[in-house]
Order: sequence, then C-alpha cells, then structure tokens
Amino acid sequence: MGRVPLAIFLSLAFCGLFPVTAAEQIKSPNYPLEGAPLLSLPVDCSEAGRCSVQNYVDFAPGPKALDHTCGPLTYNGHSGVDIRLRSVEAMERGVAVLAAATGTVIASRNDIPDRLLNEVEARQALAAPVKPSNSVSLYHGNGWTTHYGHLRKGSVTVKTGQIVKRGQQLGLIGASGSTNFPHLHFTLLLRDQVIDPYSGRLPGSGCGAGVHHSFWNEEAAKLLAYRSSGVLNAGLAERIPSQRKIRRGLRNKTPLSTTADQIVFWTRIWGLRRNDRFHIRLFAANGALLAESTQRADDDNAVSIASLSISRRTDAWPQGTYRGEYLLERPNGAKDEKFEKILKFSREAEIR
Ligand SMILES: [Zn+2]
Repeated sequence: MGRVPLAIFLSLAFCGLFPVTAAEQIKSPNYPLEGAPLLSLPVDCSEAGRCSVQNYVDFAPGPKALDHTCGPLTYNGHSGVDIRLRSVEAMERGVAVLAAATGTVIASRNDIPDRLLNEVEARQALAAPVKPSNSVSLYHGNGWTTHYGHLRKGSVTVKTGQIVKRGQQLGLIGASGSTNFPHLHFTLLLRDQVIDPYSGRLPGSGCGAGVHHSFWNEEAAKLLAYRSSGVLNAGLAERIPSQRKIRRGLRNKTPLSTTADQIVFWTRIWGLRRNDRFHIRLFAANGALLAESTQRADDDNAVSIASLSISRRTDAWPQGTYRGEYLLERPNGAKDEKFEKILKFSREAEIR
C-alpha cells in the first residue's frame, strides 16, 4: 500500500493559574480534618463524556512536573484540577460550574474576555506573569476555601457575601485569563495552602505517596477518577480537517461521497506519553485494510491530533461502511518489549 501519509500535531494544555502564596505554610499532610468539606462535582458532568481531567496538582519539587500518580498530567507549579471540555462548541453551548460544597462567596470576578491562546501564545504564556481570570472563591469554614477559575465572561451569577448551597451554579466554564483550552481550574485550599483533593497531600511533596485523605464524594470520585489518556473527538472525513475545526468540536462525518478525493481518519486524544505506541488503521467496506500507521511518541503530549489518509485511485470508492481504528499502547514496566493496551476506539462512516 506504499507510504501512507500520517499527519500529527501535538499541543500543550496550558492553564495559567498558579497557587496563591500561603500566609501560613502547612508542612505536612497531618492537618486537622474536622470541618473539612466533602466535595461534590464542581462541574455539571451530566452529558456523557463531558468531564475529563487534563491537569492535576503538580507534586514534583523544583522545576519538574508530575501529578500525584507520578504521571505527566500537570505542569510546573500547577495548583489545581483542570476539568476540561472536549470542544469549544461545548463551551459555547454552556456548561455549568457548581459549588462543590456549601459556603460563602468571598471573591468573584466577571469582566475578563474569553480567548483561547494559540500554540505559540500558550508557550510564551508559560514564562509570562500570570493573568487573572473570571473566578469565584468560596469559604466553607474552619479555614477551608475552594476556588473556581477561567469562568466565562458575564456568566458569574453570585456576589461576594452571598451564601451558596452545594451544587448551586456559580457560572459557566470559559476560557478567560490565560489558557488554550476550555476548562474549569478548581483548587482546594486550607488557610491559603493548596491541598490536592485526590490524595489530601501538598503540592511539591513528591508523587506516588498514596492517598492520605480523598475530599471527593462518591459521584465526583467516580466521574473525575484519574485516567491517563482518553479520546476527545475523532471521525472520518473527505479531507484532513484543520486543527481549528477539530478543536471547535468536529464530529464524525457520514455519509461520505464515493467520489471523495481522500478518506481520512482523524483523531484527537489527551495524555499521550513518551514511548507510547499508537496504531491507526483504516478499513474498507469489505473489511480490507486500506491504510495503517504505527508511531512511537517521542515525548509526553497533553493533546495530540493524528490524521491517517488515503487517496482515491479509481473512479469511485466502493459503497459501504468504512471504519477507522485507533489503538494506544504503553510500555509495561522497565522492559520495552511488553505493551499494555491503554485506549482503543473506532469510528465508522457510510460511503454512498
Ligand atoms: Zn489549572
């Protein structure tokens, strides 16, 4: 089948919110838990697949970045949990940010425009001073605060001094401040010290130390459970779609034309890791393999887009159901020969 064109684009997931400087440093995880909030979902995750966690609290001391499981889903100094939407379209439809526990509004901001940074701007922003975003902070008593960042301009519906109930809407997920993907940045603090809600441990305290105390309630723990990789969107198309279209929320196109110049299987996933192996294959209606490509990732990548395409060489594509398959595998342990299946999905489209 000759050389098969595979186009790959890699990008980071930049949040642009960093920890506040703690007035009173808590040094160990053995802080008092009396009166600590039990956290429910800070986002309306009711639509299937809506909530994916892109970044966690950074546990690596110094300039490195590791999440609480020692995985790469964070970056240096990241102070919270980034619950992302799969598309810009979803953000525009409006997804509610919810109070994770009953509390009093102690700060809010609502006037900063939403604008997703492009790849170059996001890389520059990593080294630039942090910009404020539309946000809400809630005080839950006994020194505990939750913070909700990157809210959509004009969406914040609560005022300082107001008491809000658990699950009450605070605003909408947006892209205000400095970020390149629509998400909620959620931070839990005890007396201004960031606490990781998954493990109850402190940022920079070293990863893989296990769970001291989980703050999530049962539903939140289930829907926000750590997943190292996942699919954002994927589909078949008649030409390679632009990255912009894919990020906006492009879906699988069906039917495709028998006279399309190309058939393309495009994919966008989060959490590609260094040395991961991914196979992309495209099958004709009769089950014949039309094109395939296998690649190794040479670095960790927050978000990766890959498109496998094949050009038409006859008058028309035979009619029927065409299928794209994606398989992500990760080296299992120290030896490089064994791989573990991490993610597998497929998309189908009719050609007629
Ligand atoms: Zn964040």
